[in-house]
Amino acid sequence: MSHVLAAVAWPYANGPRHIGHVSGFGVPSDVFARYMRMAGHDVLMVSGTDEHGTPIQVQADAEGVTPRELADRYNRVIAEDLRALGLSYDLFTRTTTRNHYAVVQELFEGLHRNGYIVPKVTTGAISPSTGRTLPDRYIEGTCPICGYDSARGDQCDNCGNQLDPIDLINPKSKINGETPEFVETEHFFLDLPALADALRQWLDSREGWRPNVLRFSRNLLDDLQPRAITRDLEWGVPIPLDGWRDRPDKRIYVWFDAVIGYLSASIEWARRTGDPEAWRKWWSADAEGKDARGYYFMGKDNIVFHSVIWPALLGGYSGEGSRDGEPGMLGRLNLPTEVVSSEYLTMEGRKFSSSRKVVIYVRDFLERYDADALRYFIAVAGPESNDTDFTWAEFLRRNNDELVAGWGNLVNRSISMAAKNFGAIPPVDPAGLTEADRALLDTAKAGFAIVGDLIARHRQKQAIGEAMKVVAEANKYLSEQAPWKLKGEDDKPRMGTILHVALQVVSDANTLLTPFLPHAAQKIHELLGGTGVHAPMPVLEEVEDLDGGPAYPVLTGDYTVGARWESVPLEAGRPLAAPKPVFRKLDPSIVDEELARLAG
Ligand SMILES: [Zn+2]
Repeated sequence: MSHVLAAVAWPYANGPRHIGHVSGFGVPSDVFARYMRMAGHDVLMVSGTDEHGTPIQVQADAEGVTPRELADRYNRVIAEDLRALGLSYDLFTRTTTRNHYAVVQELFEGLHRNGYIVPKVTTGAISPSTGRTLPDRYIEGTCPICGYDSARGDQCDNCGNQLDPIDLINPKSKINGETPEFVETEHFFLDLPALADALRQWLDSREGWRPNVLRFSRNLLDDLQPRAITRDLEWGVPIPLDGWRDRPDKRIYVWFDAVIGYLSASIEWARRTGDPEAWRKWWSADAEGKDARGYYFMGKDNIVFHSVIWPALLGGYSGEGSRDGEPGMLGRLNLPTEVVSSEYLTMEGRKFSSSRKVVIYVRDFLERYDADALRYFIAVAGPESNDTDFTWAEFLRRNNDELVAGWGNLVNRSISMAAKNFGAIPPVDPAGLTEADRALLDTAKAGFAIVGDLIARHRQKQAIGEAMKVVAEANKYLSEQAPWKLKGEDDKPRMGTILHVALQVVSDANTLLTPFLPHAAQKIHELLGGTGVHAPMPVLEEVEDLDGGPAYPVLTGDYTVGARWESVPLEAGRPLAAPKPVFRKLDPSIVDEELARLAG
């Protein structure tokens, strides 16, 4: 048993999230965390909304609200969506808490003290009217290479060349059209080259990673440059150094602050449990965290932050780069055990785009369909190791032919037949079990090792496939045994045995599917006459900021209760009620309705 950190990428709080966002890492990280808890590990699953940076500042300006007001709005929307999906965060918080500011500043100071943060004067673009840094992608102009007139400051979409905004002909701000000013400005840089050797050693010691993630990460090390970690912007975490702390125009860069969220959220979680040092069991590279493992879940566009930048921050803070140094007051910190990156989900063959309305927001989806229907689709057809396409026709087919006709049908027919003929879980005939009975029971039992191992190795598609094989075997068994034909009084003991076996396998398959389909699993547990919590659910709570800031909502929950990853023998005689359908069959007309919605 280990302390397992499930660190889930932080959604940016500039709008509601679409189903592509939750397909890559939201749902898969929850499947992993739920399985690891059921298998007896001590899991800490953390995330929150990422709320600083230029895009939020720009959007807030456009709407005439403060960045904090904008972040408040979408933090709440996102937290509510993740709750509705049943994502079992121990803490889902945000980057605007005072606790987060303090932890970010502690890492900055530690890295600075150890010599891994260095000041540098550079030429950068600022907006003359606001004095804020104009990030490269907010600058547009004519490409100096091909003459394309809408080249971005960082690259030209026409000729594909990487650009520097100062080389653009006739550069303009995309925010307000003014001509940017290029000025000398002092910023702090993370000295990544001083951490490259330590990063390479660490990457060489990784096992079990998806090969593309490891290859991509190694390639990044070949050309590491110092990276700016501060900006000219007033919305962000202040720089904790004398002469900088009180400057209203300089802030820590959003990516530096957001990636530290995994650690700050763990510390916040510990402080809220009343044991403020408890986070060390998941984070300390010394004795307190000796059995800790950390798994990071994200989309592939974020690999660099998790396999290079974040380990560099942790290593530099712990004093482990070429400049050595001493760990700060948080002690030596663990680097990730594994970076689990997903590919992209497209929709009806196109890239998700909120601005072009190629989008299905999580909230809209859940207004019309059940959370487990989406969770099922993501598990069997999500972008685990390839880009995959969401189509409404495929969603309908998976829901109706697999979830409803396969799993739902097995649950429904075995429980209704037992309820009708016995009113309870029937006993096994003293004449004993046949070979077919034993074979099916053994298949279901063997599923625990097979499915569990696949989830632990982040092969969720294969894992749910194996669980659904047990379901298919059980449906085949029922068809072959045909208990409905055993109508006579003499046949009743055999009918009871068949239904007992079928219900035991329903119970086992339900446990195997619990990490994937937790809402349905709870209902099926109750249909089988079970009581209490089978699959614990997150709750949205309003909390006070621990250090005097404004109150905010968090997702949290008690996940110490619930089913274990094992077969639990059903007791004969436990009362059964006639079942209600667990899954909803969808009308084929939804496909045209949804496509019309997209087009409109
Ligand atoms: Zn060009």
